[in-house]
Amino acid sequence: MEEKNKNSRRKFLDKGLKLGIVSAIGGLGLSKITSKLNATNTDGSGDKMELMTTDGTLIQVDSSEVIEIEHPTDHDKKYNVREGMPNRKFVMVVDLAKCTNELKCQESCNKNHYITGDNAWLKVYKMQESEKEAPYWMPTLCQHCDKPACVTVCPVDATFKRKDGLVLIDAERCIGCRFCMAACPYSVRVFNWSEPAQGEMSEITMHADMAQHTPSPEYAGMPSIKGTVDKCDFCPHQIHKKELPHCVAACPNDVFYFGDMYEDAVTNGSGQTVVLSKLLEERAGYKLLEGLGTAPSVFYLPPVDRLGDFEEGLENYNEFQSVKKPE
Ligand code: SF4
Ligand code: SF4
Repeated sequence: MEEKNKNSRRKFLDKGLKLGIVSAIGGLGLSKITSKLNATNTDGSGDKMELMTTDGTLIQVDSSEVIEIEHPTDHDKKYNVREGMPNRKFVMVVDLAKCTNELKCQESCNKNHYITGDNAWLKVYKMQESEKEAPYWMPTLCQHCDKPACVTVCPVDATFKRKDGLVLIDAERCIGCRFCMAACPYSVRVFNWSEPAQGEMSEITMHADMAQHTPSPEYAGMPSIKGTVDKCDFCPHQIHKKELPHCVAACPNDVFYFGDMYEDAVTNGSGQTVVLSKLLEERAGYKLLEGLGTAPSVFYLPPVDRLGDFEEGLENYNEFQSVKKPE
């Protein structure tokens, strides 16, 4: 019986998604549907409502089995996803002195992009230059390079660099050749070898989320596609809402700062905004493998005067199998 209900829900969610497409066309039946969708539904009400399927057929369903869809309002029609947000240049700062490998950043990234721990876009590495030097934790993610090797080698222009600094992937164009993975010196790209297990994680939430936007490189991982490459996207969907990327907001130690280089300001998860140039100068900020000429948009602050003991983070360290799937 439970299985039957699940299937029924899946079916109606699917119809909900299709309705989003239909409503863009407009029409008499649709205005009727829209007004009913805006009404409050009660479980098992027995009220019937009409829905139009993508082939134009009107069907009757119980109103309790229909979810409300909100359409995106954040972009105007002229917005060009390959150009990005005008007059912006996004950067991140990672303070290695504060990281204690709590992995809240990775957990939040995984949960909000519907990806699993195995394919995490943000990984925390255990670092130690030599036996005589102290170990430390190092979060890594796509560096959103200004001269990205991944973009140069992509044969179909699926991965691209925007004027606002973001390097994104158009999953619809990606042919899965993995040239970009070979070219990236930071090993931050992941390949979807099999059908991503996103549906298993939270089918209802994911479908509801996806119903609110058109598939776009600005919503990486939603959905992930088998045979294509994924990576950190700097959360443009959050930036549009004037919110911080998920990892930045989730870190309890304020390891991450995010902001706009043109404004010379970055903000951490506690909402403290500091002057970027001053922070980098005072804390000797640097970029990873800068000598390669990739010109990353991510800065690191060295792990001096550390916030916590390195050993405290060891309990979360398990060779990247460190994140549970969200409930
Ligand atoms: S870190 Fe790798 S994937 Fe990200 S922009 Fe640079 S080269 Fe490309
Ligand atoms: S795997 Fe996709 S994004 Fe990467 S180089 Fe090939 S086509 Fe481009």
